[in-house]
Amino acid sequence: MNVETPRCPRCEGTRFFHVLRMLDAIGDHDRVEWKVRPVGVAGVGGSKEDLTPLGHFETLLCRGCGHTIWYGRDWEGLQGRRLRAHCNECDADTSHLSFAAVELTSAGFEPVRITHGILGREGFMQLSLCTTCDRASWRGTEYAHLEGGHFVDYRVTTEPDRRCLTCLAADAIVDEKIYEYDRVPVSIAHAEAGPLQRFFGLDKKLVGHFSIRLCRPCGAVEWYAQQLDKLVHDPAHGVLAIGEPPAASTGGPYR
Ligand SMILES: [Zn+2]
Ligand SMILES: [Zn+2]
Ligand SMILES: [Zn+2]
Repeated sequence: MNVETPRCPRCEGTRFFHVLRMLDAIGDHDRVEWKVRPVGVAGVGGSKEDLTPLGHFETLLCRGCGHTIWYGRDWEGLQGRRLRAHCNECDADTSHLSFAAVELTSAGFEPVRITHGILGREGFMQLSLCTTCDRASWRGTEYAHLEGGHFVDYRVTTEPDRRCLTCLAADAIVDEKIYEYDRVPVSIAHAEAGPLQRFFGLDKKLVGHFSIRLCRPCGAVEWYAQQLDKLVHDPAHGVLAIGEPPAASTGGPYR
């Protein structure tokens, strides 16, 4: 598995979208502003106001099934716990940096939560970065009490056909559409605004969104890109279609 010739660990697909910088939406629907989504933060003081964003995310999105592979880039200086763990990219035990995931909101940095439950935002996301290849993996914490029900965004389910890639368990928590703070869906990329967005004074629009699958026994979180059909090869906005099969004949002079 690598950025040049990726293969999806979920469906074996080889066609991907490569998003060079994942964006973080700040504010509400009408007044949303986009910043590069930081991998983490560094603190100089001890207060929330003193936090500085560090790094950015790059992703590979499988066009077959939406399975998303994350990389944290330019994260040097991040604080976290050092540990040795298996890296699927390096296919070896490597040094990892583990830390709580944060997102930028209109109120400053907040912890990334897993889902909306009865009590509001529930669970937390932990990130682990391979310090050799930058592969980032997500893990949920404090989700054991989530039991589902009618008034929550997620469902507790068993997925024998989509077992955890880490531990092969079938029990999962699935949230079909995850949101940032201020109820903006976590988007895949951005593109030039259409007439509707321009009416609201925006020059960009968000494209696509994500679902997540959290493995109940081990906490591994997989991200799945949704509405990938709306994404196009758009280098100006940092979206590259890669692994395309050779272009089919469009009908030359001899057809
Ligand atoms: Zn796939
Ligand atoms: Zn690695
Ligand atoms: Zn698992």
